[in-house]
Amino acid sequence: MLGSKVSLGEERRRVLLNPRDSCPQRAADIQKTMAPSGTQAAQEPEWAAWPDEKLLDLPFCDLKVGIEGSPVEAPIRQLYGELEAHRLIFRPHFWLSDEWFSPDGIPGVAIPFYMVHERLARLELKQMFEVEGGTSEWCMRILRHETGHAIENAYHLRRRRSRQRLFGRSSMAYPDYYTPKPYSKSFVLHLDMWYAQSHPDEDFAETFAVWLTPGSMWRERYAGWPAIKKLLYMDNLMKDIAATPPPVTSTQTIDPLPQLHKSLRTHYEDKRRHYGLSHPHFYDRDLRRLFSDAPAFATNTTAASFLSRLRKEIRRKVAGWTGEYQYTIDQVLENMIKRCRDLNLRLAVPEDQAKLDFTILLTVQTMNFLHSGRHRVAL
Ligand SMILES: [Zn+2]
Repeated sequence: MLGSKVSLGEERRRVLLNPRDSCPQRAADIQKTMAPSGTQAAQEPEWAAWPDEKLLDLPFCDLKVGIEGSPVEAPIRQLYGELEAHRLIFRPHFWLSDEWFSPDGIPGVAIPFYMVHERLARLELKQMFEVEGGTSEWCMRILRHETGHAIENAYHLRRRRSRQRLFGRSSMAYPDYYTPKPYSKSFVLHLDMWYAQSHPDEDFAETFAVWLTPGSMWRERYAGWPAIKKLLYMDNLMKDIAATPPPVTSTQTIDPLPQLHKSLRTHYEDKRRHYGLSHPHFYDRDLRRLFSDAPAFATNTTAASFLSRLRKEIRRKVAGWTGEYQYTIDQVLENMIKRCRDLNLRLAVPEDQAKLDFTILLTVQTMNFLHSGRHRVAL
């Protein structure tokens, strides 16, 4: 479980991952995905025109937004269409909350508030540097993954022996961290960071998502992989239950938006604190290997201004390859820049070389961080 949600225990299973092929989002992409539909444009909420500072003071419950008529309706329709194409009668229910998750035992999916209005997506981008699920493609990936959890809940699939044999037991504790084997062929690849390897339930959800994705060509793509056994099992299992009404029909919701009384400001403070870092001297050794405080380099560019100049570019690049939040990486960068200043470090090699070496250093540190137990394995 991620720290910030520990209080909710195992009830909130979440997906917080960044698909590998997602590129850093620009406001224009988000606006394209999040363009208000006709009805929404007609009755813009008052806060849509507010500046960030004022909007941040608003409690979630006062946003008064819904899924109906919002930009997330189309992806939900598409998901329903994909279920229909496989003749599945199951349809998960959806509600708004503070992030993506599908709670254990409930055949539905929580969608984060920022998905329903372009103004909120812009705030998310500004606060966190990215909008998780903010492009159509990314949103569909997350919806399919969460639907994998929801359908397990709807049909008690975890109780099946064959499911337990192939994927492992659900009761296995979620790890604080996991060390993925990037070349393993026993797992499908859908979300980033080999997420299927983190827990049997995630493996199931990821396998379901690959199976459901139109045009995923899973039979060809996974031919010869041990993972094909899971996909073939999924195919049979889904054919088996397709026309059967689900035994669990609860439309219960967990932490729906109207019941969340904390302000957006507090929410973002918590979220940033959770994904941030604070080890000021942690990187000194690496920084001293890359830069120098020797008098011979006293007239060179300072490491701090060099890194400040590259900050945005490097942050995006490392986020793209590691799947870590841009915000987390930016925190690491900020600490490093500050330390470079404190240590009075300067460039000691040509800029191109320093840039390459530094990008590698930051990627390695980010991967170490991912495996240190505070990463965004979502749960
Ligand atoms: Zn999941």
